[in-house]
Amino acid sequence: MKCAVCYRTARGFCWVNSNLRRSDPNRYSDQWVFCSRRCQDAFSNLMEKTEGRMIDPTDMEFSAMKACLVPLGDYVGAIGMERTMADYSRDEVLMLIEVVITAYQDRMIAEHEQQAEKNRAFLEERLISQGKACSSGGLI
Ligand SMILES: [Zn+2]
Repeated sequence: MKCAVCYRTARGFCWVNSNLRRSDPNRYSDQWVFCSRRCQDAFSNLMEKTEGRMIDPTDMEFSAMKACLVPLGDYVGAIGMERTMADYSRDEVLMLIEVVITAYQDRMIAEHEQQAEKNRAFLEERLISQGKACSSGGLI
């Protein structure tokens, strides 16, 4: 398990949505685990500010986030891996944001197109099998 904040190995710290009843399975999430009290506190503060309305990313969104890693790494490598973000110029930060958003959006579009293709193939298969059922029914 990885820390939901910094991706180090989680070590038994977790977050519980105290706005939900104890019997509600959404009160606990094995996704919200942390490596340290520091990361747990940072996450808890964020959840308090958003009043617990932060929702878990979908599989599609996780996939899109992962798709940003390589372009992000390529860009940071190109402008100087040894530099801290405080050393980035405004234009470099804006370009970094653009690189990440573009990669995220491209993956989301690709995922949606893939999903639409699966749905279309499924519907066509159903229509074909219904057509066969009808035509065979017509023979009887
Ligand atoms: Zn952490």
